[in-house]
Amino acid sequence: MNRRNFLITTGAAMAAAAVPPSLLSCSSAPRTVAKTGKLTLTFEPYELQLRHAFNLARYSRTTTPDVQVKLEFDGITGYGEASMPPYLGESVESVTKFLSSLDLAQFNDPFRVEDILAYVDSVADGNRAAKASVDIALHDLLGKIMGQPWYKIWGLDPAKTPVTSFTIGIDTEEVVRQKVEEARPYKLIKVKMGLDKDRETIDIIKEMMPDVPICVDVNQGWDNKEKALEMCHWLQERGCVFVEQPFDKTWIDETAWLTERSPLPIIADEAFQRLPDIVRFKGVYSGINIKLMKSTGLHEAYKMITLARALDMKVMIGCMTETSCAVSAAANLSPLVDFADLDGNLLIANDRFTGMTVVDGKITLRDLPGIGAELL
Ligand code: MG
Repeated sequence: MNRRNFLITTGAAMAAAAVPPSLLSCSSAPRTVAKTGKLTLTFEPYELQLRHAFNLARYSRTTTPDVQVKLEFDGITGYGEASMPPYLGESVESVTKFLSSLDLAQFNDPFRVEDILAYVDSVADGNRAAKASVDIALHDLLGKIMGQPWYKIWGLDPAKTPVTSFTIGIDTEEVVRQKVEEARPYKLIKVKMGLDKDRETIDIIKEMMPDVPICVDVNQGWDNKEKALEMCHWLQERGCVFVEQPFDKTWIDETAWLTERSPLPIIADEAFQRLPDIVRFKGVYSGINIKLMKSTGLHEAYKMITLARALDMKVMIGCMTETSCAVSAAANLSPLVDFADLDGNLLIANDRFTGMTVVDGKITLRDLPGIGAELL
């Protein structure tokens, strides 16, 4: 029996034995599921409502467009999601158009992950969040067929998950103080920077939580390399552990200059999206922030982690504002990374999933088949 047949055979048995009926999208009473042998993709727009206005160096917003995805095979449902912060160029319209163009019914074996995702990737360039939604739903579906969560399928130790940061945006002193109160359970505070109030914001946080390490995300907001280096030293003295995307993503030489001199790791975010981007960043950045909505999902994100490690780069896993569906999916990879910024689900008021949780600041994975998220 080859591996694929083994997984299918074993998976079918495990699904019958181990998957809670609720995950099979059916009532608690056993029922016979019609076997179609086809992958069926459905999707619907779902606007994420943010708890606080999200203020970055370059824009502000109160909602995030999102599309929720279902992928069904023989009565088992995998869930996925595309979240589209406007600066990445995708929209409900573009995601809907892309997903409508897919013909997944041509695949009668959901375990052909390489073939299925290569097909999805080939249909059109870009559309990274749309592609991620299919990848996440496919992983959820396969994990449910096998009756195992992905961190186990990948052989990862759930005890090795990192702490996750809690993000504090650029805001008035009053709002910053309120957000620091919300951040008390966390063991790492991520501060958005890039405007005139950077040092004041850090001073407030260090006054309220003197012992908690911070990291900063400049979102391309700095425009002077000497001042940036001075700021990196100032931040190091205040317990900062890394600086994310200090300059405009096109400032390659300036970033390499800073990375060479900075006492803190310099992490790429907006500057890169997918696997091939990583090789040219060796020496420019100290590490990368992988997000499923950029990487086209878990399959490529896993390869990105492997490549970054081979290049001796640091790895962070982050997210957009997303429901617990995509955030829980990403959390399965977190035992492999140095830093995690998986608070996107906590920033929205209308999460429709439960999934990974943050306990005492640390990512806590759930022993649920698939990506580890359950529809509420
Ligand atoms: Mg960032």
